[in-house]
Amino acid sequence: MTAPRGMLGLVDVYRSYRLGSVTTQVLHGVDLEVGAGDVVSIMGPSGSGKTTLMNIVGLLDRPTSGNCVLDGRDVSGLGDDALSALRNRRIGFVFQSFHLLPRLTALENVCLPLVYRGAGRAETMDRARAVLERVGMDDRLHHRPDQLSGGQKQRVAIARALVGEPALLLADEPTGALDADTAREAMDLLLELNAERGVTILIITHDPAIANQCARRLRIRDGRLVEALAHDPGAADAVVPRHPSPPGDIHKGAAARPRGPTPGAGTLSRALAVLGANAREATDSLRKARLRTVLGLVGIMIGISSVIAMVSLGEIAKAQARKQFEALGTDILLVRRSFDAEPPGQRPATIALSDAIHLAPAVASIVEAAPRISGHGRFRYAGRNVGSGSIQGVTASFADVNRLSVQAGRFISDLDVDRYWCVVGADVADAMRRAGADRFVGEIVEIDEVLCTIVGVLNDRTESYALPVQVDANESVFVPITTSGRVVPDPEIDVIVARSRPGVHYETAVADVRSFFRDRAPALKLEIVAAKDLIARLEAQMRNYTLLLGAVGSIALMVGGIGIMNIMLVSVAERRREIAIRRALGARRRDIQSQFLIESVILTTAGGVLGVVLGLAATWAICRFTGWEYFVSGVSVASGLGTATAVGLFFGYQPARQASRLDPIAGLQGE
Ligand code: ADP
Ligand code: MG
Repeated sequence: MTAPRGMLGLVDVYRSYRLGSVTTQVLHGVDLEVGAGDVVSIMGPSGSGKTTLMNIVGLLDRPTSGNCVLDGRDVSGLGDDALSALRNRRIGFVFQSFHLLPRLTALENVCLPLVYRGAGRAETMDRARAVLERVGMDDRLHHRPDQLSGGQKQRVAIARALVGEPALLLADEPTGALDADTAREAMDLLLELNAERGVTILIITHDPAIANQCARRLRIRDGRLVEALAHDPGAADAVVPRHPSPPGDIHKGAAARPRGPTPGAGTLSRALAVLGANAREATDSLRKARLRTVLGLVGIMIGISSVIAMVSLGEIAKAQARKQFEALGTDILLVRRSFDAEPPGQRPATIALSDAIHLAPAVASIVEAAPRISGHGRFRYAGRNVGSGSIQGVTASFADVNRLSVQAGRFISDLDVDRYWCVVGADVADAMRRAGADRFVGEIVEIDEVLCTIVGVLNDRTESYALPVQVDANESVFVPITTSGRVVPDPEIDVIVARSRPGVHYETAVADVRSFFRDRAPALKLEIVAAKDLIARLEAQMRNYTLLLGAVGSIALMVGGIGIMNIMLVSVAERRREIAIRRALGARRRDIQSQFLIESVILTTAGGVLGVVLGLAATWAICRFTGWEYFVSGVSVASGLGTATAVGLFFGYQPARQASRLDPIAGLQGE
C-alpha cells in the first residue's frame, strides 16, 4: 500500500466518537487523494460526517485510525505545535458562520494568521490590505464584523484564509449562511482565487449548484467517500477507488502553485511578534470588558495598597524610632540587674544606690550615670486629683542623659539628698493649673500621701521614646533618688542610664562597668545593653511587625487574586470560540496561554500601580495624623509592584492553561 503523493491524502481513515458506553462510528475507512490546484466538493446529508472529515483534513482532529497526508508527508506522528505551524502555513479555513473575531476589525481579523506566523507588523498590514482589496473589501478595513453584511463577512473570512498563501483552502459550507446571489458571488470568488493562485480548494456543501461548479465532486455515503459521476446530484455514485492516480492531476498544480515569499520568522522574533500582538489584544479585551476589568482592578488595588501602606508604615516607624534614639545619643548604655538567672525563692542581689552613684566618677570610660528607681502613684494638689503616672527617683544627671529641660524652677540636684522636693512633668502641671494653681514652684503636691514641694516644672516632651527606658516625662513626678525609698514601695534601681566618654568603644565601656560591679558586688548579675544592640533589637522587632502587617496585606491580595482568577476563568469560558478560531489559524497552545497570562498580569499590574498610589496616599495621611516624618519607601513600592505581577502570574496561570488546552473542534461547533 503506497501513500498518496498528492497535495492531500487520506488513507483508510476511521473516526468514531465515544459517548459513555456508546460508540458512534462516523467515518468508515475514508480514502481520498487530492492533487494540488484541484477544486473538490463534498456533499452529504447533515450528520454524515462532513465536518468531522474536514477537521481531520484541517489537522484540527486526529483520526481514530488511518493516516492523513499533507504535502506528501504523513502527519500522524506530528505534535501539537507542528500541527499548529502546518495549519498556519499550509491551510486556510472558511467556515459556514464566518467565525470572524467580533472584537477585531476586518483588517485585524485578516492579520491574525500572519501574527501567528511571526511576520513583521508592517508586512502583515500590507499583505492583509492587499488581500482585502483583492476580495473587494478595501473600503471596509476598519469595520467590525457586526458592521458588515453576511456576504461581506464571508469575503473577509476568505481574505483571512488566503492571507498566508496557503496551499489548501478548506471551506465548510461557505455559502450556507448566505442568500443565493451572495452565495454565487462567494463561490465565484473562490474559483477566481483558485485560477489566479492555484490554491487547492475543498468545499463542503449542501447545495448542488455549488457542487456543480467544482471540477471534482464527492459524496459522503455510509461514512465513506464516493465519486459523484454526473452533474445531476441524483445520479448514481461510484465508490472512489483506493489511491486513484488521476493522470496529471497530482502533479499539475504542484508546479503551477505560486510560492510567493512566505513571511515568517525565527523562533525568537516570532515569540516577540506574538507577544506584542498578545499584549495589544489583552489591553483591548480588558478595555472592552470594562466593568469586569474595574472589579478585578479594585480587588488587587485594595490588596496592594494595604501591603504598601503597611510596609511603608513599618519602615517609617522604624526610621522614626531610630531617629529619636539617635537624638538621645548612640553612646548610651543601659545597665540593669539581669532577671535571667534569678534563683527561685532567694532574694537576688540588687544594684546598690551608693555603687550606682559612684559609677561615673569611678569608671574613666563613663562620663555620666543616671540611676533610677521608679514606681507608680497618684498625684493630688489642693485636695484634688491631678492624675496618676510614674514616680521616678533620680539624680541630677538623669535630666542630662535623657535630655529633659525645665520651663520653671530647676531639676533635682545632687544636693537634694532626702528632701521632699519634686519636679513635675508638663501634663501634671497642666492638671494642677486646671485644679486652680497659678504658680508651681513652691506649691505642694501629694504623691501617694507623701507631701513634696515643687522645685521645678519640665518642658513638654512631644516625642515618645521607643526605648526600653520608658521616660514618659510629661506624666511623671521626679523626686531625689534618696527620697524615692519613702514614696515608692519596694524600691530598687531598675536601670542606670550611662553615657560613655566620647571616643571610647562601647565594648570597652561595657567591660569597665562590669569590672566595677564585679569588685563591689560579686553576687550581682548585670545586663548591659549598648545603643547599637538596642537599635538592632528595635529593628528586629520592627521587622517582625512589618512582616506581620505584610501578611495581613497578603491575605487581602489573595482574595484579590482569587477574584482575578474568577474573572479570567469566566473570560476563558466566554471566549472558547475565539480561542478555537485562533487555534485553527495557527496559534500554538503557548500563544493562547501567553495571551491570557498577559491579560491577567496587565490587570494585576495596573491594579498594583493604582494600589501603590493609594497606599502611599494612605501612608501620607497616617503620617500627617501621627506626626511621623513621611517618606516614600522604595522597598514597599518595589514589593507592591512585584507582588502584583506575581499575583497575576500565579492566579492567571490556571485559567490561561485551561484556555490553551481547550479543544478547538468543540469551540468551533459549540454555540
Ligand atoms: P456533518 O458536518 O456532515 O453535518 P458532523 O461531521 O458534524 O456532520 O457529525 C457527524 C456525526 O458525528 C454526527 O452524528 C454527530 O452527532 C457526530 N459527532 C460529531 N462530533 C461529535 C462529538 N464531538 N462527539 C460525539 N459525536 C459527534
Ligand atoms: Mg457540518
